[in-house]
Amino acid sequence: MRALNINHIMGLDNSHLLALSDGHFLLPEVKTAFEKMQAAAAEAYLDLQICSSYRNFERQLSIWNRKWKGELPLYTLEGELLDHSQLSDDEKIHAIMLWSALPGASRHHWGSDLDFYDKQSVERANTKLELVPSEYENDGPCARLSDFIDLHAADFGFYLPYATYVGGVAREPWHISYKPIAEKIQQEFDIDALRKTLSDSELLGKEAVLPQLNELVLRYTYNKGV
Ligand SMILES: [Zn+2]
Repeated sequence: MRALNINHIMGLDNSHLLALSDGHFLLPEVKTAFEKMQAAAAEAYLDLQICSSYRNFERQLSIWNRKWKGELPLYTLEGELLDHSQLSDDEKIHAIMLWSALPGASRHHWGSDLDFYDKQSVERANTKLELVPSEYENDGPCARLSDFIDLHAADFGFYLPYATYVGGVAREPWHISYKPIAEKIQQEFDIDALRKTLSDSELLGKEAVLPQLNELVLRYTYNKGV
């Protein structure tokens, strides 16, 4: 693997990523591993496709700032709408990070992580994918594929960092991560560089975010719980 620098890891430079035919971007090793898993899924009549892969810093910053200002809705873990005007800065941070990453600290910056779905099955069900757990369990359109991934992801080097809610990010049965690279990125992650990038950025709420940056990265990016 080509050495990754902190700008790659924070979503500020994607020159090391490869474009897939569907327009998504992944690291070369991750693309290879994903395509092998996709072929194995196809043998089981499952249409394993990506709905989200690489996202850059600016995109994540825009999502964060719109949520901070109340231009995008904030939800509880149970999916209930929160009253934005009643939230303290700290409550806002946690309400945002339950569902969206802090810019610079999103696993979607890494090129090792992606969200998957069963494209043909979703099309057959004639619904629009919303990325909610019910689509990935029981008789949801991605349930069979989700079972396949739970069983076989490790054979291809992938794991599910948000398989269980432990006090960080809400459960995301669709989010997979290529372990050999993601673990290396976690080891090399430079919190001080992130702190500097965020303090120089247009991030709203940074006065409240920066003093607790270490804990936020552990709790949400790595999903270490509280
Ligand atoms: Zn994801």
